[in-house]
Amino acid sequence: MTKTSPDSPIVVVTGGNRGIGLEICRQLVQRGAQVILTARRPEAGEKALRELKSDRASFHVLDVTDSQSIADLRDHLQGQYGRLDVLINNAGIMDDEDNSGLDVGTDVVRETFATNTLAPLELSQALMPLLRKASPGRIVNLSSGLGAISSMGAGHPAYRISKAALNAVTRILAAELDGAVVVNSMCPGWVRTDMGGENAERDVSQGADTAVWLALEAPTDLTGRFLRDRQIIAW
Ligand code: NAP
Repeated sequence: MTKTSPDSPIVVVTGGNRGIGLEICRQLVQRGAQVILTARRPEAGEKALRELKSDRASFHVLDVTDSQSIADLRDHLQGQYGRLDVLINNAGIMDDEDNSGLDVGTDVVRETFATNTLAPLELSQALMPLLRKASPGRIVNLSSGLGAISSMGAGHPAYRISKAALNAVTRILAAELDGAVVVNSMCPGWVRTDMGGENAERDVSQGADTAVWLALEAPTDLTGRFLRDRQIIAW
């Protein structure tokens, strides 16, 4: 088992090889966290790890839609650290740019749901015994304003449905865990990444900020909420 300082939170980040996920990893190691950067493609994950240039970060392969891959990560964390302080469910896909709710294929909805909704749920379930050993453990779900029911509108049907349901996962788990592990959703804003595109208004540093704050610094009585820019927003 790896010796880590009790003050050094152990954080898993999914989809850590690029975009907001990689920036979250960068900010976490800068703040002294022990980061397990995960990615589904080993070469991309190892490359991202080298970019971090930090001995506080390590790489572990994880395809969030693969139950065996999730079990392998759980076993690795159990053997290496014996606990987990934070799970950041960042990996996500948006494959419905050209679709409306009236024409989107159910295969696209199903695939988007598997990555954006079911994977965070399954990871939360699988890693819960390790998160319960932290005081308290934290789960941060990268959601989106496009998933807010209060401002739900046209376009991006699969993505919107998946993120609205992810927000439901956040609220259900937060209620059931009752503070033993805190669970929040956050929206990074519109961020310049492969997903957000070059016209987006924010850089990755702004996009990662609230996730990192929720992971390390937010008050532990803040749970079951939806946030942007460290502020609670409407579901
Ligand atoms: P991105 O640049 O497209 O990166 C997505 C990441 O998710 C990549 O690392 C990708 O890995 C990974 N991923 C996808 N499917 C995966 C799987 N099955 N297993 C493991 N990893 C997988 O996206 P981003 O802009 O950084 O977005 C990060 C999160 O923020 C997402 O949840 C997104 O919905 C949310 N968000 C983004 C914006 C925005 O404006 N960018 C706005 C609101 C919310 P590969 O490299 O292997 O594909």
